[in-house]
Amino acid sequence: MAAEIRAIRNWFLDMDGTVYLGNELIPGARAFIEEVRAGGGRAIFLTNNSSRSPRDYAEKLGRLGIETPEEDVFTSGDAAALMLARRFGRGARGYVLGTPSLEDLLRREGFALVGENADPQFVLLGFDQTLTYEKLRIACDYLFAGVPFFATHPDRVCPTERGFIPDAGAMLALFRTATGAEAEIAGKPERMMAEAAFARYGIAPEETAMVGDRLSTDIAFANRSGLTAVLVLSGETSAADYAAQRDVRADYIFDSVNELRRAVFGPRGQERGEGPCF
Ligand SMILES: [Mg+2]
Repeated sequence: MAAEIRAIRNWFLDMDGTVYLGNELIPGARAFIEEVRAGGGRAIFLTNNSSRSPRDYAEKLGRLGIETPEEDVFTSGDAAALMLARRFGRGARGYVLGTPSLEDLLRREGFALVGENADPQFVLLGFDQTLTYEKLRIACDYLFAGVPFFATHPDRVCPTERGFIPDAGAMLALFRTATGAEAEIAGKPERMMAEAAFARYGIAPEETAMVGDRLSTDIAFANRSGLTAVLVLSGETSAADYAAQRDVRADYIFDSVNELRRAVFGPRGQERGEGPCF
């Protein structure tokens, strides 16, 4: 059930395509976030990318002019850690295909990461930009043996300045083809990501919106999790794309976060925020 837009207190914000495009801040993003915070609300940056740490994202946002504590960045790696802790308890043993930053996150959460010829309770796949054939072989061994399979997120590709690169969803297809194993997923669009974020921040869906540019993750996530769904047309989805589908429902659609800011905070915001650095 969608909330009236001015009644929203907590904002889950997708980053690429919503707050920035590559290394360019989207006009109005900084002013929107400042006004949310000034009004006592929360801006929480939510990303499916489990190859980088919250600190990496907080630093990038800071470079773009949005000072952000790393606690306000929540990744699908954080959601996966909570999912695995609920299932197996902290201290569980896992075989992880992920970057060093995902491995560090899991160790900090109390998991024991194992290698070959061990006895893992789970296999977890992240956006592993350090993937090797050796890792694929070991993970497939465990999956053939029936070890439960999890993934941080399902995105097939990740946008970069140089085009799309294969993401965790493409790696999932490899494991599905080789072993038949299907992974349980933590990140957007799954409800687990929302449950994990609600638990971390102590907030409720009724007063929370998800703002994003991707229908299959951001908007589907909002629909499944009971969040107010706000689609911005500043990234990968056009108005025609939205009109051509019936899978997901946006409660509000804006050209960009700048128009969202005007709807929430009124025309007062128009005079502010767009300094020369934009
Ligand atoms: Mg996006």
